[in-house]
Amino acid sequence: MPLQCPRYNYAAQFGPEVDTLLGELRGILLGGNYILSAEVSRFEQTFASYTNCQFARGVNSGTDALLISLMALGVGKGDEVITQANTFHATVAAVQLAGATPVLVDADEDSFLMDVTQVPAAVTDRTRVLLPVHLYGKPTDLSELLRIAKPQQLHLVEDAAQAHGASINGQQVGGIGTAGCFSFHPSKNLAAAGDAGAIVSNDRMLVERIDCLRSLGQKGQNDHVVVGVNSKLDAVQASILSWKLGRLDEWNRARERVADAYRVRLEDLPLTFQRTDPDERHVYHLFQVRTKRRAALLAHLRRNGVDAVVRYPIAVPHQPAFAHWGWRPGQFPVAERLANELLCLPMRPDMQEAEVEYVCRRVRDFFNREGNAQ
Ligand SMILES: *Cc1c(COP(=O)(O)O)cnc(C)c1O
Repeated sequence: MPLQCPRYNYAAQFGPEVDTLLGELRGILLGGNYILSAEVSRFEQTFASYTNCQFARGVNSGTDALLISLMALGVGKGDEVITQANTFHATVAAVQLAGATPVLVDADEDSFLMDVTQVPAAVTDRTRVLLPVHLYGKPTDLSELLRIAKPQQLHLVEDAAQAHGASINGQQVGGIGTAGCFSFHPSKNLAAAGDAGAIVSNDRMLVERIDCLRSLGQKGQNDHVVVGVNSKLDAVQASILSWKLGRLDEWNRARERVADAYRVRLEDLPLTFQRTDPDERHVYHLFQVRTKRRAALLAHLRRNGVDAVVRYPIAVPHQPAFAHWGWRPGQFPVAERLANELLCLPMRPDMQEAEVEYVCRRVRDFFNREGNAQ
C-alpha cells in the first residue's frame, strides 16, 4: 500500500487554537464592517513591521500588487520593465496589464533566479523598472541590481510572491527596492483563504498613490482623481493572515528542515538542486529537483502516491498569451531548460519525517532501477 504524500494540507495550518480565529471571523461577519476595516489596518501594520518596512497595503492578489505598484510608479505605455524569462505568468502579465513592455533576461543556471549579468545590456532609455523574482523562496541578491538602477534612476520592484520571510545579507525581501509585492494565494507560504496580496514600501508618496489606485482612484469619497482599480484586502482575509503571520517563521523553519533532508538524502543521485548561498534565508515555497528524466520520474512518483508536480512547464516567452512580443525559441536557453527539467517534490511545513523518508525512497528507487541511473 503506497503511503500518500499530498502537496497541500491547508487544514494542518489550523491547530487547536483555531477557535480564537473562528471567534474573530464570527465577529467580523456579524459586525458588518467588511471594507478597509480595523482588521485590515492591523494586518498592514504587522506585515509592514515583519518585512521591516514603513508601510504595507493589502490588495486583492499578488498580481494586483504588481500591477498597482507599476501604476503607482507611473509606468505605462512606451515604458520598459526588465524581468526574467523564468517566472510565473503573473509577473509578466502585470507589466502588460500596466500598458508597459516586458523585457526579459534569461535565468541563471545554478540559482534559478534572474541572471543579473544580462541586465545592463537589456537597459534602454525607456527602461523604468527592474523586476526580479525571489523564485521558489530564494532571495535574489539585489546589490548588483541596485547598482545598475541608481545612475539611471530606475526603480526596483521585488516580486516576493513566493518569498515571505526570506532575507539576504540580513535584509528582509520586499523592502530592499522601491516596492515589494506579495501574494497570499492559498498555495503560498503565508496563505489567505482565497486570493489576497500586499505591497510593502518605505516611500510615503508612492503609498499615497497606491491608496488612491486600489480604491478606484478616489482621493476622498466620490472624489475620483484618476482611473484606478478596485482591489482592497478583505477584512476576513486580513484576520486570517494576522493569525497566521505569527506562525510564519516557525513554518518557514519547518520547510527548511524538509529541504535540508531532501538535499542530504538525495545528494548522491543524478539530480541537481537550486544553489544555496551564504547569508541568505531561503523559505522554500517550492523544492525543485532538476533532471533530464523528469517525465518518467514524475510518472513514477505519482504512481506511488507522491504528489509531485511540474510548475510552469511552458516558459513565459513561449506562452500563447505573450506570442505578440515575438520571443523566439532558443532566445532564453536556460529558462527553457529549467522549464523542461524542474520538478517540485512535496513541500509542506507540516510534513512528517515518515513522509519525507517515503518521498526520498521513491525518488531513490526510480534512479536505482536499471536504465535510469543516467
Ligand atoms: C503567485 C505569484 C504571483 C501572483 O500572485 P496571485 O496572488 O496568484 O495573483 C506573482 N508572481 C509570482 C512569482 C507568483 O508566484
